[in-house]
Amino acid sequence: MAIPLCHKASSLLLQHPHSPTNTHIFVCKSSFIPIKQGQTHFKFLRRQKLLKDLSTWAIGGPCNYFCQVFDHTQLVSALRYCHENSLRFMIIGRGSNCLFDDLGFDGCVILNRIEFVESEEAGVYKVGSGFWFNRLGVQCSNEGFTGLEFAGGIPGTVGGATFMNAGANGQETADVVESVDFVTTDGRLQRLERADLNFGYRSSPFQSMPDLAAIVAVTFQLQSSGTSKTRLQEYLERRRASQPIGEKSAGSVFRNPSDLGVTAAELIEKAGLKGLRVGGAMISKLHSNFFINCGGSTSQDMLNLIAIAKEKVNQKFGVKLKEEVLYVHPREET
Ligand SMILES: Cc1cc2nc3c(=O)[nH]c(=O)nc-3n(C[C@H](O)[C@H](O)[C@H](O)COP(=O)(O)OP(=O)(O)OC[C@H]3O[C@@H](n4cnc5c(N)ncnc54)[C@H](O)[C@@H]3O)c2cc1C
Repeated sequence: MAIPLCHKASSLLLQHPHSPTNTHIFVCKSSFIPIKQGQTHFKFLRRQKLLKDLSTWAIGGPCNYFCQVFDHTQLVSALRYCHENSLRFMIIGRGSNCLFDDLGFDGCVILNRIEFVESEEAGVYKVGSGFWFNRLGVQCSNEGFTGLEFAGGIPGTVGGATFMNAGANGQETADVVESVDFVTTDGRLQRLERADLNFGYRSSPFQSMPDLAAIVAVTFQLQSSGTSKTRLQEYLERRRASQPIGEKSAGSVFRNPSDLGVTAAELIEKAGLKGLRVGGAMISKLHSNFFINCGGSTSQDMLNLIAIAKEKVNQKFGVKLKEEVLYVHPREET
């Protein structure tokens, strides 16, 4: 199963020219005080935040440390704290592509709340990486710009969508990305322009960037269109009819196999697995590539169901399905 970006913090050296030297970070054992925009001090929650509350699958145990960041400065401060305390860390958006473990996460989970949208030129949107991707899709399409209609039904963040190169309906994030601002593990803010960004099907250069800490902002370039609003509605309607919206899922579990002319959902369905249940995990009867937490699924239930689907599809069709969802290991793997 694909490994998400979980960083070992021990090699971090965080220095950013714009980060204030008087940033205060506390470790809080009893309560959580939310950070507000512009504030440079905040607290960490210790073993109180459950990952199941940070994931659309609603699965996952406690993280050792948890904080939210509302701007770039707070992000760098959180990274510095992780570095100083040798904590591994992981940045998450809405946890809509992650399978967390019931054992939790032995490092620091940083929830991205960097949520701004700036548009100084028609069709050009610079967006904070914590902004909801579906909100962006709806906003741009309603403003008469095409390219992000597909995003209207994707419950992730702009950062998560760029990291995953999310896509649907023949559109993908990469098509409209102009540049990406990100922070490296040594705390530097950097920018990559479109020409330097090599995206693939559900893959981005960020997935293999060893010194990436987090994407901070993404600039999109969209074209004006008289039909974007209608297309958005069509895509949303199609989704409502074909996907178990409202159930606890992480969207498609497997990538579609390339060049076979058949989807992962079709293979799973033809293998007779629709509706198969393991504990609290079930393959959706509406869309066979959506696996649902239909009541108290453990991470192991979901992992077992994924393993069964892989095995049966391979046995029946000789196709090795690859996961699109990311399993977050509770401890650092050696
Ligand atoms: C109902 C449903 C429908 C879906 N439909 C689709 C679909 O049509 N197409 C599609 O492609 N996906 C779909 N998904 C999957 C998911 O929504 C996307 O992959 C989404 O882009 C993930 O965003 P996120 O913010 O939730 O990422 P998370 O799940 O929080 O994180 C996913 C990965 O991205 C990394 N990441 C997140 N934010 C950042 C950041 N700022 N900087 C660096 N790395 C980061 C995380 O570390 C992790 O490795 C669907 C999911 C659901 C639940």
